[in-house]
Amino acid sequence: MLILKSKRKARRFAGILFIIGLFVIWAVFFFRSVKAANMEWSYSASDYYSVMSYSSPGNILDRSGEILLDGSREGWKWNEGAAYNSAYASLIGPDIKLTAVSKSTMLGAGAKKLLGIGSNTIYNPLKILLPLPVSGDDIRMTTDTSLQLKAMELLADYPTSSIFMYNYKTGEVLTSVSKPTFDPITLEGIVMDENNKYMSFSDKQGKGINKNIAYLRPPGSTMKSVTAAIALDYDESLADFSCKCPGTATIDGVKVICHSTHGTVKSMQSALDKSCNIYFATLASQIPNDVFEAGLVDCGFNSVVSYGEYNVADGVFGEVDKLNGLSSIDKLYGAFGQATCRTTPLQMAVIYGYIASGGDSVLPYFFEIDGKEHETEETFAMFGSSTAETLADMLEQSVSNGSGSKAYIEGMNVIGKSGTAQWGDGREDTAWFIAAIRNEDYPFVVCVCLDESSRGGSSAAPFARKMLQSAIDLTNSENAIDEIPEE
Ligand SMILES: [Zn+2]
Repeated sequence: MLILKSKRKARRFAGILFIIGLFVIWAVFFFRSVKAANMEWSYSASDYYSVMSYSSPGNILDRSGEILLDGSREGWKWNEGAAYNSAYASLIGPDIKLTAVSKSTMLGAGAKKLLGIGSNTIYNPLKILLPLPVSGDDIRMTTDTSLQLKAMELLADYPTSSIFMYNYKTGEVLTSVSKPTFDPITLEGIVMDENNKYMSFSDKQGKGINKNIAYLRPPGSTMKSVTAAIALDYDESLADFSCKCPGTATIDGVKVICHSTHGTVKSMQSALDKSCNIYFATLASQIPNDVFEAGLVDCGFNSVVSYGEYNVADGVFGEVDKLNGLSSIDKLYGAFGQATCRTTPLQMAVIYGYIASGGDSVLPYFFEIDGKEHETEETFAMFGSSTAETLADMLEQSVSNGSGSKAYIEGMNVIGKSGTAQWGDGREDTAWFIAAIRNEDYPFVVCVCLDESSRGGSSAAPFARKMLQSAIDLTNSENAIDEIPEE
């Protein structure tokens, strides 16, 4: 009897243990599911790993809906041997573990949506009973793969360069390629940090980094348009400001050297055509420091600006001393994009898109959840719309008749500005060309940066033209699908 009783007891005990065990397992799964569903945006890589193991991540598609990365419980798989892999590598980024969830990569910026974080499974009663893996959304990038490949083809002889292009009316980023790139499958070409754990973001050549958004360069003469805009906003009659360029001049105690001796530069238009350094340094000296600094902040310099979900390297301009403000050398050299002035192609593309649109543009975005429309965000007010219009007329004139003629496209109103930026730390110059189309049907802005450009910076303007032409062709072919062809 006693044995029977204890046997029954033991069986009951085992049964209770079993139920408790089941409950514990359920609770673990449930809390992981709740955690994954409600986790807020965070930079902690370990948080993401824990979610990753409990998530069924979504796919990454290109603009046309083609799968670039296949999401599965094991993570993301690139298409073995695909021609587009290296074109997308620095934009999409390597596996999340290697980037420490860097927001400057697509995988980092899109992690929340791809992993289904914040999808509120807790409110679904079935999911409480059966806490299944959180499924992430598919993400559709705005980039066009043919344009990505076109940019890579243009940069074939430029191992350390970048091209960025976006539609300033819709915000869609059409192209973002950056070199040196890497193989996203073998990870060959990535520079690791000192602990050999995460991808290094401090490599001077920018290996594997998305240079369009996370790599600061001196903008060189492309900055002259910003100086011109601040000047016109301050006093529109400065469009007629004239000064002498003797080749070398001392302005506010700072020695400024021009790349040529331009003699009398009779207007802002002429200064932009000739890209005269002394003119823009002298022009900056006409503007009070506080006005100049405020103008820079309005254009996104010295301020934290977020562009959609991406973490963008902020434009830096000068070392602002709290007591004395911008130093003369930072201000006067910064007026033509040298000294401590630094920016990203994305920031400059936003500024030129704003100019081309007459102050009515939107901020770029890189992706949307597949099937959901993206809400565009208007560009912050940088300067007055009349300033933007006046400047756009001048920059269009420069492309039609002046220094930017290699970016001219027949039948289009193209604005543009070139730049040759010196780093001041022994690195070879970076050649810039930023161009934008003003025509309503083709609102594109492109920024070409050719690093180590002693080997041919003159290609920047033709590359800008070719990218814009490709975007025009793509738009025409996309539109042609909806139209009945004329005989
Ligand atoms: Zn000059």
